[in-house]
Amino acid sequence: MGLSQDQVRRYGRQLLLPEFGVRGQERLLRASALLIGMGGLGSPAALYLAAAGVGRLGLLDSEPVEAGNLHRQVLHDTQAIGRSKVDSAQARLRALNPAIEVVALRERLEASNALRVLESYDLVLDGSDNMPTRYLANDACVLLGKPLVHGAAIRLQGQVLTILPRRSACLRCVFPEPPQAGELPSCQAEGVLGSVTGLIGALMAHEALKLLGGFGTPLADRLLTFDGIASGWREVPVRRDPQCAVCGDHVQTSDIRRIVHAAAAV
Ligand SMILES: [Zn+2]
Repeated sequence: MGLSQDQVRRYGRQLLLPEFGVRGQERLLRASALLIGMGGLGSPAALYLAAAGVGRLGLLDSEPVEAGNLHRQVLHDTQAIGRSKVDSAQARLRALNPAIEVVALRERLEASNALRVLESYDLVLDGSDNMPTRYLANDACVLLGKPLVHGAAIRLQGQVLTILPRRSACLRCVFPEPPQAGELPSCQAEGVLGSVTGLIGALMAHEALKLLGGFGTPLADRLLTFDGIASGWREVPVRRDPQCAVCGDHVQTSDIRRIVHAAAAV
């Protein structure tokens, strides 16, 4: 394929990396990633993926930009208040890197659209802010065999896990039952610091760049947690559960389809 002079100028500093190089760049330019949520995690993740030259980015979010988003959702600016997040994000990413394709999907991830939406992407990054969406993204990615980078942040804490379907632990292997609504704290109620979502979102982008660029070791079977009080990282080993309801040894495709469709009830 080879790189153009413009591409060599733009991506030169990452082309210098022996682990990445021209081969990694060519892989990125051909690759696609879907980002669920254009919020505190999706913002930095999308900026780094677009800047690095991932060929096609899908942005999924149904919400408008609000003033209370701006302290952490660095894709959007004051003028974007009231505008749809995916439109604001698309404009910012196109300005950053006009050579890549940026697809705005103004919808929520639902059982009815999950498979259709995720199907055409190589990899998924889930930066959503609620459990039903996280489990739906997990189950749909296992069903479709798509690598999933899961991230979450609240207060001064965050976590990241990369899921390689049927090869490494999925979200349900680690947390078999989704917590009930109201059991989990929300950023809306508990708060979060933008530097924490920034760290977690950047790490999610890094995981995606490794997988799409074909270098490094994925953060699979290792749940990485961040404690923003001490600025400490901790690695929690996790394992795939052969009895897992979605990625277990005896689970049939039809079983996972049923679970994905049952998510319509939440
Ligand atoms: Zn599992």
